[in-house]
Amino acid sequence: MAFTLEMYPISYIARYNPQTKSWEEEWIESDTIPYSQLLTMNEEDRQKVFANRNQLGIPAVSYTSQYGYGCFEGMKAYPRKDGKISIFRPDRNANRFKKSMEGLYCPGFPEEMYIKASCEFIRRNAELGYVPAYNSQWEENNYASASAVYMRPFMNSEAAIGIGISKAPYVVICATSVSTYFKGGNTKAIITNRIRATPQGTGWIKCASNYVISTLAKKEAEEAGFMEVVYLDAVERKYIQEGSSCNIFFLMQDGTLVTPELGDTILPGITRASIIDLARQQGHKVEERPISIEEVMDSGMECFVTGTAAGITPIESLTHNGVERVFNNRKPGELGESLQKQLKGIQYGAIQDTNNWNLIL
Ligand SMILES: *Cc1c(COP(=O)(O)O)cnc(C)c1O
Repeated sequence: MAFTLEMYPISYIARYNPQTKSWEEEWIESDTIPYSQLLTMNEEDRQKVFANRNQLGIPAVSYTSQYGYGCFEGMKAYPRKDGKISIFRPDRNANRFKKSMEGLYCPGFPEEMYIKASCEFIRRNAELGYVPAYNSQWEENNYASASAVYMRPFMNSEAAIGIGISKAPYVVICATSVSTYFKGGNTKAIITNRIRATPQGTGWIKCASNYVISTLAKKEAEEAGFMEVVYLDAVERKYIQEGSSCNIFFLMQDGTLVTPELGDTILPGITRASIIDLARQQGHKVEERPISIEEVMDSGMECFVTGTAAGITPIESLTHNGVERVFNNRKPGELGESLQKQLKGIQYGAIQDTNNWNLIL
């Protein structure tokens, strides 16, 4: 099970009041059914509980539902080896969320409010048993089967129907539990002809509308037997951009780890930034620069994609114009695996967090 809509009982909602220019916060407690009790319920009753928890009291007709005018975050909380819970780099998500909202010409949600609400959110749901307990068996396969809490903060507009800018947005934090994002087996990727983001567009914003193209591209790729799509740039149709919802890295023949440089068409991933730091700290040469599809087809040795949901997922091959470039004999690469091990180890509190990335509750 990757993502399911197994919503947590307690959600957070804040609404911007344009008169007072302040955010009014509220906690929505749909129910207080402990997690343990859900496990013994029959499926039908469980689904009723989740459906009820999905009633967040935000308007059905809005700029968000009609025009995809909204933005979101994806953030994880991890059960730690020492029994505590940590949130990974929430300051970065808070900052990106504020920039996304401002990029949509909305009032930005204050970073300290975001962090405070996120911590409180985890505490309240943890009390009802919604944060999984640490399991030392996870260490055996590098946390591949480990559980975490997937938090989904998002912005939704007020009720509206004409095209316009949200003046009284809602910010919601909800969550669901997750294990691995990509199902095992096939990890082939294909270059799609579709264009995710254009210069002067919204590719750098984690906004709802960007994901329509990705949904279509991913369906086409899956029907053709691939797990993931990789986009090329919109102008020259030559440079690698990223995956449908994840950033991308290549280990080149000369030993350099390369990822496309940020700009207005690439989502500035927090996993991406963390992997760049970890690889450099391990002594690897890392470059953020334009990387053409020809270069990858000629000398890409390893490839992996990164994201909060995806973690670090190895890509076995990349197909372009009917030609397949196979990476590392289709096996997860050594570099990607060692970075994955380190990142997960830090997140689950099994390896020392020398960069101070975890916010420990
Ligand atoms: C969220 C996202 C990522 C990954 O960002 P993280 O902060 O690492 O989770 C990459 N690309 C796209 C398009 C995304 O939406």
